[in-house]
Amino acid sequence: MLADRLVGGRQVRWCDRQTDRTLNDRPLSTPALPTPRPSACPGLLRIVPARDGGICRVRLPGGRLDAASLRRLAEAAHRHASGVLEVTNRANLQVRGVRPERADALIRDLLDAGLGPRVAGADDVRNLLLSPAAGLDPQAGMDVRPLAQRLLQALENEPRFHGLSPKFALSLDGGETMAMLDHPHDLWLSALEGPDGQPLVAFGLAGCVPQAAGDPPALAAFPRAGVVEGVVTLLHLFLDLAESGVAGPDCTRMRHLLARLPASALLQRLRERLAVPLLERAWLATWRRAPAPMDAHIGIHPQRQAGLCLVGAAPWLGRVDAASLIALADLAERVGDGSLHFTPWQSLVLPNVPVAHAANALAGLEALGLATQPGAPATRLVACSGSAGCARAQADTKADALTLARRWPAGLSLPPLHFSGCPRSCAAAHVAPYTLLAIDAGHYDLFRRDAGHDGFGRRLARGLDLDAAVTRLAEEARSTPHD
Ligand code: SF4
Repeated sequence: MLADRLVGGRQVRWCDRQTDRTLNDRPLSTPALPTPRPSACPGLLRIVPARDGGICRVRLPGGRLDAASLRRLAEAAHRHASGVLEVTNRANLQVRGVRPERADALIRDLLDAGLGPRVAGADDVRNLLLSPAAGLDPQAGMDVRPLAQRLLQALENEPRFHGLSPKFALSLDGGETMAMLDHPHDLWLSALEGPDGQPLVAFGLAGCVPQAAGDPPALAAFPRAGVVEGVVTLLHLFLDLAESGVAGPDCTRMRHLLARLPASALLQRLRERLAVPLLERAWLATWRRAPAPMDAHIGIHPQRQAGLCLVGAAPWLGRVDAASLIALADLAERVGDGSLHFTPWQSLVLPNVPVAHAANALAGLEALGLATQPGAPATRLVACSGSAGCARAQADTKADALTLARRWPAGLSLPPLHFSGCPRSCAAAHVAPYTLLAIDAGHYDLFRRDAGHDGFGRRLARGLDLDAAVTRLAEEARSTPHD
């Protein structure tokens, strides 16, 4: 049963857990759920246990969701789980604290809400990262949304691709200002124009779109009309080689293949299979994508559509409770077109907001506790679930991150900082400028990103408590501002 509740100063619709449980329990004759394949990665059909209950990950096409679907997701999370949700670093939403006896009911509710894959078995393969501003950013050279839709359909429609690792991920960049360029992908695609003005899409494997002179360059480019065929052919080639044992017994990611087979040999095999031209031009070796500003996903930003803007904000450490998500859905309908774009910075953007409503949108986001100012600590911190949610964690990273934020000196910009409970780095798909790696409760080693060092970078200090971490990081922030 839905009732009104005051959340963040607003009345929102809310479901009563006890009443709702009775109303929504399904008969035992409900058709069986599809069986997910084994993996440690959460999915919509594969709820993975954690210390605070199960984790159910809902993949959102391009990070997008409409308000009605978001309400149903939030209500299901409240009904069957702890009511805590997280925005992931691949712009998905995951439900935490799923109660074991409610897992099937949660999955059914999410499938009923249309949040599953279009094709049975295709949940894991829906890993295509887009800019939250795809199709809306005035700086972008290409509206990648139609191509993204075709790529997602190709991934979902080909049963063989359902066997790709749940971590196997693609990105598609249209040249937007609001872009996550630091996350490595098995296959990245980036729109550009050739010297003769030809519209192309460059690509690379097991890495990132090149931005700086020393970055690994694009391998080649497809004509835009040939991208889907090129990607499909490349994925079949990857699977053929992985299954043949060329790259060893456990080749599940593109980096495994490239460790055994030079990229030039892979391209040669790809060229032999392709009907579309594979463009390997000398100028591609020096092509660099314009870097993306750090805080471009926060605050108000103009759209290419006249009179409309994007309004972005970040929840603390990517977490939002179900009631706040329902309030966000209401806000999206009130100030925008009712859609929400989640981001790989574990934040969200309200698109298509009339400029006249932008200030209201910003105020509404702030009222719900989200950070809307570029450089605010909530926009600079990421933390894994830590010891409250993960048995591997050496410390309560989320609580410690909040404590550090409270102790951070006023007026000094916090550098981008990642709290990791162990070396697995679940919260950050990229190496953050600074990482605090837990070594025991309340103590961390501090690392600074450094191209000459693997992992989190160069270790600056060992065994810091939170006060010492603040002092050391403040020295770094004063000597190397991150604004
Ligand atoms: S980084 Fe380590 S401690 Fe943190 S959630 Fe992942 S496995 Fe757990």
